[in-house]
Amino acid sequence: MLSIHRFIQLLILTIISVLYAVFIYAYINDQQNKTDLIVENIRQDLSETAYAIASDMDKIQSIKGFKALINRKTANTPLIADMIIIYKQQIILTTNTSIKTLPPERDVISKFRNVTTQELMNSLKFKLKNRFYIQDKPEYFTILAYLEKHYIHNKFYQYRFNFLLFFGIIPLLILILLWVVLKRSIVIPLEKLRQYAYYQSDIPSKFKIKELESVRSSMVQTFLRLEHEKSELYKLSRTDELSGLANRNQLNERLSWLINESARSKTEFALLFVDLDNFKAVNDSLGHEVGDDLLRNVAGLIQKVLRKYDIISRIGGDEFIIVVSHYKNILELTHILERILTQLYNLQIVNTHPVRVSGSIGVAFYPKDGVDTTSLMKNADIAMYEAKKSGKNQYKFFTQELQQQVVAEIELDHELRKALKNKEFQLYYQPKIDIQTGDIIGAEALIRWLHPIKGLIPPNDFIPCADKTGFMILLGQWVLEEAIQQQLLWKNTGIYDLKISVNLSATQFLDERFDEKFQALLKNSDIDPGKLDIEITESVFMENSQKNLNSLNNIKNHNVSISLDDFGTGYSSLAYLKSLPINTLKIDKSFLDDYKTESGAIFIETIVKIAHTLQLNVVAEGVEDKAQLEYLRSINCNEYQGYYCSPPLPAIKFAHFLKNKVH
Ligand code: C2E
Ligand code: MG
Ligand code: MG
Repeated sequence: MLSIHRFIQLLILTIISVLYAVFIYAYINDQQNKTDLIVENIRQDLSETAYAIASDMDKIQSIKGFKALINRKTANTPLIADMIIIYKQQIILTTNTSIKTLPPERDVISKFRNVTTQELMNSLKFKLKNRFYIQDKPEYFTILAYLEKHYIHNKFYQYRFNFLLFFGIIPLLILILLWVVLKRSIVIPLEKLRQYAYYQSDIPSKFKIKELESVRSSMVQTFLRLEHEKSELYKLSRTDELSGLANRNQLNERLSWLINESARSKTEFALLFVDLDNFKAVNDSLGHEVGDDLLRNVAGLIQKVLRKYDIISRIGGDEFIIVVSHYKNILELTHILERILTQLYNLQIVNTHPVRVSGSIGVAFYPKDGVDTTSLMKNADIAMYEAKKSGKNQYKFFTQELQQQVVAEIELDHELRKALKNKEFQLYYQPKIDIQTGDIIGAEALIRWLHPIKGLIPPNDFIPCADKTGFMILLGQWVLEEAIQQQLLWKNTGIYDLKISVNLSATQFLDERFDEKFQALLKNSDIDPGKLDIEITESVFMENSQKNLNSLNNIKNHNVSISLDDFGTGYSSLAYLKSLPINTLKIDKSFLDDYKTESGAIFIETIVKIAHTLQLNVVAEGVEDKAQLEYLRSINCNEYQGYYCSPPLPAIKFAHFLKNKVH
C-alpha cells in the first residue's frame, strides 16, 4: 500500500521528470535555434565577403586588395576570429599569417543548414565556396572562417548557466518548497491524526486544510465523546446503581489499595459486614419499590455516620460492606458500630410507609483476621452470621472459635453429602395416636444418620448445618421420596394404610423448583395425597413469606395436609394462624413438660381452644407418661406423640410394633 508520504514523493518526482523532459527539450531546441542563428550570421558574413570578392576580382593576383575587406569583416564580426581565402588548395589571403596549413576537410563545415550545435562546437570552422570569373572563365575560391572559439563557447555556456539557473535550480527549489508545504500541510497532519487515533496522544491543534481540519475536529469530537462514555461506563462499573455507593468492583479495588497501604504503614483497619435483619419481610409485604427506597435510605443513613474516607459499598441485596480505617482505638470503633445500629433502628418513613429495620454487623480486622480481601470478607460474614444467630440488631467481632465452627461446618457438609451417596441416612417412624380412641392414625418420619464410626446421629446434630449450606434441599427431597415409598410399601403389603408426616425445613422452600418437584413427586408415585402430611415450623413464614405461602397453598391444593410443628416456640402469631392453610397445630414438648403448673396448663389449654376455634386439629408432642395423656384427654386434645406410646422406630421395627398394636 502506498503511503501519502511516498505518494507525494512520487508525484513530485514525476512532476520533476516531466518538467525536466520539457525543459531539456526546450533547451535543445533553443540551442539549435541559437546555432542556426550563428550559422546564418556566419553564412551572411561569408556570403557578403565572397560576393564582394567575387564581383571585384578579375585576376587572382588582385586578391591582395581584399585584405582590408576580410580584416574589417573579421574585426566587425565577433563570431569570426580569422578568415582565409583558398584558391586551388592554396591559402592566398589570410587575416592571420600564422595559419599556414589547411585544416583537414572533415574538420570544416561546408553546409549552412541543419548544422547541429555539437558540429558547431566541435568544428568551429566554416567554408563557403564561391565562383568568380577571370575573362569569363569561371574560377572557384573558398572562404574559410575560423570562428571565435571563446565567444561561441561563452555564448553557449552562459546560456547553459542561465538555463540551469532559471529552468533547473528554480523549479527544483519550487518543488522542494512544494514538498515542504505538502509535507507540513498534509503528511504531518495526517501523521498527527494517526498518532491521535492510535495512541490517543495530545489533541492536535487546528489544521489549515479544510478537509483535514474537518476530519480532525470530528475525530476530536468522537474521541471526547468516547472518553466521556468510557468514564461514565467506568463510573457505572464501579458504582451501585441503586444506592450510588461503591459496588463490589470498586470495593475490591479500594480494599486492595488499602491493604497495600496498611501493610506498608503497619496499621490495622476494620471491615464491617452489614446485613439488614428483616429486609425480605419489607420487600415481600410492601413491594420491591419500597424495598429499593429503603436500601437508598439505609445507604444515606450509613453515610451519615461515617467519614468521607471510609469505604461504604453495597455488594448485593441488603448486604453492605464498610471499611473503617481511621479510628484511635477499639472503643471509638464500637461507637461507630453502635451509631450505625442506632441509625438503622430508627423508624424510617419510606414511601409514606413507616418502616423499622435493624442490622446485624460482623467485624473482621486487617491483618489479625485476614490479609486479603477474600478472607476479610469471609470472616466478617462469619461474624455477621453469628450476630444474626445471637438475636440480630447487634455486632459481633470475628474470633478463632467462630472460624473453627465454620471449618467444622464445612467438614460436616462434606460428610453429609458423602453419607447421602453411601445411603447412611434412615427414616425412623413415631406413631401418632388418637387420644379418644387410642388408635394409631399416623406416623411421623424422623431422620437418623447411621454413621459407620460415630453410630446413630440425631437430626438436631446435622439438620441446622444442612439448612445453612443448602444441602437440606437434597436431603429433604430424599426424605420425602423415602417416606412416600415406605407408606406405599406398608399399604401394598397390607400392613397399614397409614398417614405419614414428613418434616420440611424452611430452607427447602428456598429452592426455586420446590413446587415443581413436589408436584412431580406426587404425580410419579401412587400415594394418595390424603395420606401425606407436611410438618413445617413458624420459620417458614419468617422469610420469603409470600413465596412460601404460595408453596403451602400449592401443597394444600394437592389435598396434602399441613401441620404447624413446635407451636408456641416461635412468634406464635394469631394473625397467621388464621391466614395460613394449615390443618393441624403441634404443641411443643416444652409446654407439656409444664402442664402441672398453672401457667403451663393455661398455655396448653389456650392453644387447644384457639386451634378448635379455628377448626384445627391439635397434636401434643413428647407425651412420656399416662398422667400427661390423661390431662390431654381431659382438655380435648385430639392426638399425641411420645415415648409413652413409642419412640421413633426404624421401619421394620415400626411395622412389628404396628402389627402387635393392631392385633
Ligand atoms: P420434631 O419434628 O418436633 O420431632 C419431635 C422430636 O421429639 C423428635 O426428635 C422425637 O424423637 C422427639 N420425641 C418424640 N417423643 C418424645 C418424647 O416423648 N420425649 C422426648 N424427649 N422426645 C420425644 P428427633 O427425631 O431428634 O428430631 C428432632 C427434630 O429434627 C424434629 O423435631 C424435626 O424438627 C427435625 N427433623 C427430624 N427429621 C427431620 C426431617 O426428615 N426433615 C426435617 N426438615 N427435619 C427433621
Ligand atoms: Mg415434626
Ligand atoms: Mg416438634
